[in-house]
Amino acid sequence: MTKNFEIAVFQGDGIGPEITGPTVDILTRMAAASSAYSLTFVDAPAGAQHYAETGESFPAASMEVAKKSDAILLSAMGLPNVRYADGTEISPQIDLRKALTLFAGVRPVTVKAGQRTPLNMPEGKEIDFVLIRESTEGLFYTQGKGEVTENEARETLLITRDISEKLFKFTFELARARKASGRGSARVTCVDKANVFRAFAFFRDLFDAEAAKHPDLNADHAYVDATALWMVQKPWEFDVMVTENMFGDILSDLGAGLMGGLGLAPSADIGLDHAVFQPCHGSAPDIAGQGVANPFAMILSAAMMLDWLGIKHENRGLVADGKRLREAVEDVVAQGRVLTRDLGGTAGTQDAAKAVLDTLFVS
Ligand code: NAD
Repeated sequence: MTKNFEIAVFQGDGIGPEITGPTVDILTRMAAASSAYSLTFVDAPAGAQHYAETGESFPAASMEVAKKSDAILLSAMGLPNVRYADGTEISPQIDLRKALTLFAGVRPVTVKAGQRTPLNMPEGKEIDFVLIRESTEGLFYTQGKGEVTENEARETLLITRDISEKLFKFTFELARARKASGRGSARVTCVDKANVFRAFAFFRDLFDAEAAKHPDLNADHAYVDATALWMVQKPWEFDVMVTENMFGDILSDLGAGLMGGLGLAPSADIGLDHAVFQPCHGSAPDIAGQGVANPFAMILSAAMMLDWLGIKHENRGLVADGKRLREAVEDVVAQGRVLTRDLGGTAGTQDAAKAVLDTLFVS
C-alpha cells in the first residue's frame, strides 16, 4: 500500500506564501506521479502577520499539527515592524527548534559547473559540502536571558554531552549516506576553537569518541577562523563539517555567499523524531507581493525533506524524488535561462518554479 506522509505547512510572512504555493504544487505533482508515496498538506497558521491579526504568534493548534506531522515545511517567518512588547521579533521557527529539540541544523552548500559564484573557481572544480550547525545550545543557550548590568553583559555558552553525542552520531551517519550516494569524500571535520576554550576541547573529545566508531570515514579537526579562510580558498575540499551554534550561524551565511546568495540556500533543522525544512533566507519584506521572489531555496528545502523522509522510512521512491527535485533546480540554475532578479535574471517566482516543473516532467 502506498504510504501517506502528512506535511505541516507554515506559509510564513512576507514572500513566504509566494514561494510556498509553487513549492507545494511541485510536491503535489511529484507525489501524484509516484506509486511509492503520497503526501497530505496541513496548513499551520503562525508568524508575524498572524500575530498582528490575532494577537497570537504560534497557536497551540499549529504546534499540535507540527508535532503530529511526518515533516514540517516552513517558509520564512517574521516582519521587522511586528514585534512583541519587549522589542524582539516573532520567530516561530526558533520556538519549533526548542520545542522539538531540533539539534542538527543542516546547511548544504553546492556550486555546480555554470553556477554564478563570487569565487574564481578552478576548471573542473565544484563545491558540494554540508555544514551542520548545532542548533539548541552553544552560545545561543542564554538567548533572550543574557545578564546585562550597567557595566557588564554576559551570555553563557553551553555544550552538553547529551546533545553533542546525538549531533556527532547524526553527522557521521549523514557522511556515510553521502558516501553511499556517491557524493563527498567521506571526510568529517569538527570545526571548533579547542586551542583556546575548554568547552571546545570537550566538544572535540566527544567528536573523537564518535569518530572512533566510524573507521570507514575520515575524521579531522579545523579551527573556526582557519575554516572561514579555507571556505573561501578551497571549499571543494570539504565534505561534512560540524560545529557549535554561533560558529555555524556565521559560517552558514558564508556558505550561502559562495552559492551567490540566500536565494539558493536551503536548510533543515533535524532532531531524533521531527524535522523542519526551510530556506535560509528571511521574509524579504522589501520585495513581498511583487511576484519576484526566488523560490529555489524553498524548493531545494522541499527536496531535502523528501530525502530525509525517504531515508527515515526506507522509501526509495522518496529518496529518488528528493534527488530528482534537487537536480532539476540545479539544471535550471546551470542553464541560466530562467533566473529571478537576485540571480541576475528577470523571471518571476511562478516562471522560475514552472521551469523546475518543466525540467521534472519533460513532455
Ligand atoms: P531577508 O533574508 O528577508 O532579506 C535579505 C535580502 O535578501 C533582501 O534584500 C531580500 O529582498 C533578499 N532576499 C531574501 N530572500 C529572497 C528570495 N527568496 N528571493 C529574492 N530575494 C531574496 O533578511 P532580512 O531583511 O534581514 O529579514 C527580513 C525578515 O525576515 C525579518 O523580520 C527577519 O527577522 C526575518 N528572518 C526570518 C528568517 C527565518 O524565517 N528563518 C531568517 C532570517 C530573517
